[in-house]
Amino acid sequence: MICPNCEYEYVEGIEVCPDCNEKLISNEEFEGNLLNPKDWIIVYTCSEEYEAEMLKTNLESADIEALVWSQKDRNFPASGDLSIIKLFVKKKDAEEATAIINDINNKKIDFEEETEE
Ligand SMILES: [Zn+2]
Repeated sequence: MICPNCEYEYVEGIEVCPDCNEKLISNEEFEGNLLNPKDWIIVYTCSEEYEAEMLKTNLESADIEALVWSQKDRNFPASGDLSIIKLFVKKKDAEEATAIINDINNKKIDFEEETEE
């Protein structure tokens, strides 16, 4: 459940945003809103939620508001249950967010190479 006002995500069972007193909407509804985004943009997609959450944490520590969206994409032309995880940021933050994500991924590759046997 997501607050349409502050866009904070709450666990299932909470119906009203404690900060805004706004009635929460379902993730599906919120995604519907994002299909016509005024200021959100996808900066990264991956198939592992932990990866997107890690990037989100890094973006937030740089004061960039980020949103992780995960879904089973039925249109994805692959067999099996492939999850598509999308990372959204506000358009004004897109450039900085992309730079941070690239930076993190470059470091990650270095790290993986170093630890390879
Ligand atoms: Zn709220």
